[in-house]
Amino acid sequence: MRVPFVLDAARLDRVRGVVLGTAVGDALGAGYEFGSAPLGPEGPEMIGGGLGGFAPGEWTDDTTMAWAVLDVAATGADLRDEAALDAVTARFVAWAASGPPDIGIQTRAVLGAVPAGAPTAAAAVASARAVHERTGRSGGNGSLMRTAPVALAHLDDPGAAALAARRVSLLTHHDPQAGDACVLWTLAIRHAVLTGEQVVRIGLDALAADARAFWAARLDEAEQGPPARFRPNGWVVTALQAAWSAIHATTSPAEALAAAIAIGDDTDTVAAIAGGLLGAVHGAEALPSSWRALVHGHPGLTGEDLADLAVRAVAG
Ligand SMILES: [Mg+2]
Repeated sequence: MRVPFVLDAARLDRVRGVVLGTAVGDALGAGYEFGSAPLGPEGPEMIGGGLGGFAPGEWTDDTTMAWAVLDVAATGADLRDEAALDAVTARFVAWAASGPPDIGIQTRAVLGAVPAGAPTAAAAVASARAVHERTGRSGGNGSLMRTAPVALAHLDDPGAAALAARRVSLLTHHDPQAGDACVLWTLAIRHAVLTGEQVVRIGLDALAADARAFWAARLDEAEQGPPARFRPNGWVVTALQAAWSAIHATTSPAEALAAAIAIGDDTDTVAAIAGGLLGAVHGAEALPSSWRALVHGHPGLTGEDLADLAVRAVAG
């Protein structure tokens, strides 16, 4: 069902906030990934370093993969379409082949098996299924971390947003729980951009009955907290719980990102996931300006560049 909306100034700020929040969370968490630096009492800062030797303010694989989705959405593409998914896959494969320092194990295995000469979505989906069948699991947090831009491409249609979220997830993650997490988070971001409301359960009805019950219980756990309970968080379920627990336990984007990073383990990814929803709820202007100004990363973009792409993704 299509829902027309007007892109007023408040919504425009929240559209920009989705991608800036993702990038800020990612770059802020990068330096603390898997305990690579101690987190002082003053909270996280954009120190760079981490597992990929990043510059201060540089985003990591999370935002780069989100950019791949965003860049295609900014062409006006419908992310449910095979041609759009081919274009996303081509960007994923080109990035993976460039030898990034921080690509996830599962994502590297999936994308590395896609023919470089024909990087189609069908090949990626088949490769993701093969990895799942070989390893018995594929529920890492690597598709959830990049789902935020999907909401921007489908603000006018929650059903389309849900289907697109699942299809983009399937490019690298065969596990239905990864897809469920992407549907839930994408619909929460979509709702937040349109209304400014933080309603994480808005997408539960888009899931199958058994998945709906599973996720409702997991969200309850996240709200009971404390956030530190959700560590390790490489599994998509724990990563979503960590992000939501940090947001639920705090009242501002900066506090929530600090809480997300204080959980530890996969700090950049949990903070990137949290940042997408925080930016959608509070808007770009509510993110500390020093952090917004510093973010940059592959492929040679700034946070402002991402925000411009976000507006184009909405405008279609
Ligand atoms: Mg990362």
